[in-house]
Amino acid sequence: MTEQTEAPAAVFTDLGLEPDILKALDSLGYEEPTPIQVEAIPVLLGGRDVLGQAATGTGKTAAFALPLVQRIDPDKRGVQALVMAPTRELAVQVAEATHRYGAGRGVSVLAVYGGQAIDRQLRELRRGVSVVVGTPGRILDHIRRRSLDLSSVGYVVLDEADEMLDMGFIEDIETILTETPEGRQTALFSATFPPRIAQLADRHMTDPVRVTVRAPKLETPLVRQAAYVVPRPYKLEALARVLDLEAPTSAILFCRTRNEVDELNEALSVRGYRPEALHGGLNQAQRDRVMKRFREGTADLLIATDVAARGLDVEHVSHVINYDIPQTPEVYVHRIGRTGRAGREGTAITLVQPREQGLLRGIERVVGRPIELARVPTVADLRARRVELLRSAIRETIEEDEFDGYREIVATLAEDYDPLEIAAAAAKLAADATRGEEPENEVEIPQWENRPQRPHDDTRGPRGRRDSFDGPPRGRRPRADMTRLFIGVGRRRGIRPGDIVGAIVGEAKIPAEGIGSIEIADQFTLVEVAEEHADHVIRTMSRAAIKGRPVSIRRSHD
Ligand code: AMP
Repeated sequence: MTEQTEAPAAVFTDLGLEPDILKALDSLGYEEPTPIQVEAIPVLLGGRDVLGQAATGTGKTAAFALPLVQRIDPDKRGVQALVMAPTRELAVQVAEATHRYGAGRGVSVLAVYGGQAIDRQLRELRRGVSVVVGTPGRILDHIRRRSLDLSSVGYVVLDEADEMLDMGFIEDIETILTETPEGRQTALFSATFPPRIAQLADRHMTDPVRVTVRAPKLETPLVRQAAYVVPRPYKLEALARVLDLEAPTSAILFCRTRNEVDELNEALSVRGYRPEALHGGLNQAQRDRVMKRFREGTADLLIATDVAARGLDVEHVSHVINYDIPQTPEVYVHRIGRTGRAGREGTAITLVQPREQGLLRGIERVVGRPIELARVPTVADLRARRVELLRSAIRETIEEDEFDGYREIVATLAEDYDPLEIAAAAAKLAADATRGEEPENEVEIPQWENRPQRPHDDTRGPRGRRDSFDGPPRGRRPRADMTRLFIGVGRRRGIRPGDIVGAIVGEAKIPAEGIGSIEIADQFTLVEVAEEHADHVIRTMSRAAIKGRPVSIRRSHD
């Protein structure tokens, strides 16, 4: 398989981090540093101030928190590091991450924010903590109450500085900074640098090194790209629905860490999917086994980290699903390049947490194409989809006309029942046999449809909402210049997209671009081919075989 050439991958061990921190990262399942981490960590460990341009989702927290943890001496008294963040949610998140990174050296971290009873914070502060993470308002409050003494702080972080500016915290921040020692080290992270932030940096930082992860323009394959904005607790449910709706023939699912790969693998197995996990924690033999199962179709979902998927020998997959949004546009482009190969249709789906929408917009800018915002399917959508699939399977079976052996059963039953009743009962049986468990209670997934206007929004549809993502290809009409053909073999016979393309290109000798979407059902396959080649494909394929078997092929009427 041809891979995009990449810069040699950076490793955590090259960044100057100490063994106990490397161990913490390993136990979290982080396999390699993100670009902002590669840039910022050595500079911060070298004691320099850093101005970092990075949005949420890029791994910026670890970029400043790992050097922070390394600087802390747990035996020393007093607050040694202070992190300011715009919201309570982010403060808690940063405090938790810092705690995890510093677990090996017993770093004590406290989050302080408005809305939480101050007594508990006062108690913890009196007991002594090394790191305080908080919102500027509450930090100032503690300074005024003299419950927070910043005179021994050596490391200050301003996280999401532009957000703090927007929220009117800038004066609080200035006041807090004047309470910290002159010689401290300061890191400022912000997605954007409006003049007021630049001024703040000028005034309070010493000769900072600017780290930016710039993305070059990248070529993306022609794949359908969609994103679902889903809050973290709903991601698994949303993924399951998307998988049911899309019914991928083969898909790679990407997660950020080894631990997430394992968790998702387990969660999907429990739900009755057939996933396999691939990550850096596997040895070569385990890796080979996983890939064998995926290639043979015993598993149809491969869950992987980016590192593990590198150099993967997989021809083509129908779907690439980013369970976690990639941390840079380059990684996005690299991931989605695994589908839509050889001119074939592919789908790239990304689950984005509401906070990570900035990252999604960054990706859109780099790939130069809007990514459609789709609505998470409801249980009603899934039911409708099942009905649609069943109706179309019955129609195809009728047209295939290979059910002589069953006429007798129906004829006998028809003596006692109405044919419509018999057919309906048979349809129910077929549906029961193929359907997974119906969820008992519908989990309501919050819909995030009102994304702020973006430059791309001129593509909005007539309803003013960019949800034109038109669902699974099967309910859809083929493109005007394409015709859909029905082939009477499917998944049950182990058919994979490569077999279909191989057979058509090999027998009919038409270019691969003449082949569009391929949908493989249990018993049959629907394939789009260019109208100009359709008759020729039908003629040549009728005499040919797929996987050693002759097949019926004709225009599909669905
Ligand atoms: P942040 O941009 O700091 O909000 O980080 C986004 C997410 O990426 C968090 O869930 C982190 O745990 C995760 N993360 C950060 N660095 C890495 C890494 N090097 N490898 C895998 N996951 C990471």
